[in-house]
Amino acid sequence: MTELLLVLIPLSFVAGWLFAGRRKAPHGEPGCSDVNPAYFRGLNFLLNEQPDKAIDVFIKLLEVDCDTVETHLALGNLFRRRGEVDRAIRVHQNLIARPTLTQEQRGEALLELGLDYMRAGLFDRAESLFSELCELNLHTRAALENLLQVYQHEKDWQRCLDVTEQLEPVAKRSMATEKVHYHCELAVEALKQGERGDAARLLKKARQIDKRHPRPLIMQARLAVAEDDCKTAERLFHKIEDIAPRHMALLIDELTHCYDERQRSDELTRRLVHLLARERSVPLIRETVERIARRDGAAAAVDFLREYVSDVDDPVLLHELIRVSLADPEVDATQLLHRLEDLLGRMLAEHPNYTCAHCGFQSRRYHWRCPGCKRWETMSWSSAAGHAPKEIE
Ligand SMILES: [Zn+2]
Repeated sequence: MTELLLVLIPLSFVAGWLFAGRRKAPHGEPGCSDVNPAYFRGLNFLLNEQPDKAIDVFIKLLEVDCDTVETHLALGNLFRRRGEVDRAIRVHQNLIARPTLTQEQRGEALLELGLDYMRAGLFDRAESLFSELCELNLHTRAALENLLQVYQHEKDWQRCLDVTEQLEPVAKRSMATEKVHYHCELAVEALKQGERGDAARLLKKARQIDKRHPRPLIMQARLAVAEDDCKTAERLFHKIEDIAPRHMALLIDELTHCYDERQRSDELTRRLVHLLARERSVPLIRETVERIARRDGAAAAVDFLREYVSDVDDPVLLHELIRVSLADPEVDATQLLHRLEDLLGRMLAEHPNYTCAHCGFQSRRYHWRCPGCKRWETMSWSSAAGHAPKEIE
C-alpha cells in the first residue's frame, strides 16, 4: 500500500498540474473550463485507500496528447518495473490507441508494450509488436534484440539465425558465437529427426562461422563415432584437445569407444594422463582413476589420485579417493585420514558459514539483518565448520 501511494501521489499531482496548466491556456482549449470532477473522484479513491480505482481515474484524466505522452510512458515503465505488468499494459495500450501520436511516439509506445508483454510471458504478442517495429524502421536495434529473446525462449533457432543476420550490422558487433550455437541447436533437432545429412551440413556451416569453436567439433566427433568412423573422430579429438582441452571430458564415452574398439585401452590411459597435465578437469581425473584402478589395481589408483587431491580441492575427487581407498585393503587408513583432514580443513576455510533462508545471501559472519534482502534473522548456519557463531552489529 505504501509503495502504491508513492506512485499515486505523483500521479495525482501530475494530473492536477496538467489540469491547472490547461485552465490557464488561452483561447478556450478543451479542458480549460471548470475543474474536472473526475480529479476529485480520483483523490477521493486515493484517500479511501482504493488505489486501483484511483489509478483508473487518473489515467483517464490524463488525456493523451503531446503534453502527456511522456507522462504515460514514464508511468507505464514505472508499473512494469514494479512488476505490475497488467497496469503497464493498460497504460501503453491506452497510449497506442490514440490517433494523434507522432510516428516516433508510437514507436516508443509499441516498444514499451512489447516489453510489457515479454514480462507477462505473452511472447506471441510481444513478437508481433517487435516485428511491426522492424517493419516501421523504428527502434530497430531494441526490437531485434527483443525478438531474439522471444525466439530463443521459443527455441525457434532458424528465426534466431535470421534475426541475428539483421541485428549484426545494426548492433555493430560480431554474433559469431550465437550463430554457431543456433546452427548446433538446429543440428541437434535434425539428429532427433534422424536427419544425419542435414545435421552434418549444419555443423559444417557452424565451423565456417568460427573455426575455433569447440561445440560443432564435439558434435562432429560424436556423429563420426555414431557412424563407427573412429579415424575421422580421432582427427576431431586432436583438434578439440588443441583448442579446448577442458571440453575433452564431454567426449569421454566417445574416446573410450574408439580406443576400446581397437583394444588400445592402455594407450587411452596414457593419453588421459597426458591430457591431465594440461587441463586438470575433474571428470577426466575420475575417468583416468577408473581406468588405472581397473588395470593396475586400487593401490595404483590411490597413488595417482593423491597427487591431484592435494592440488585440486574438489569434493568429487575427495569422494573418489575414499572410494578407491576403501577398495584396497593395503591402504594405510591413518595416512588417508590425515589427507582428508587437511583437505577438508582447506575447503572449509573458504566456505561461507551463514546463508540467508530468504534470498540465499552467503556470508562468513553472522548478520542479524541480511545484507542482501535486509530482512531480520533470516541468516542461519549453513556448513559443518565447527566454531561458534560470531555476532556482529
Ligand atoms: Zn537475504
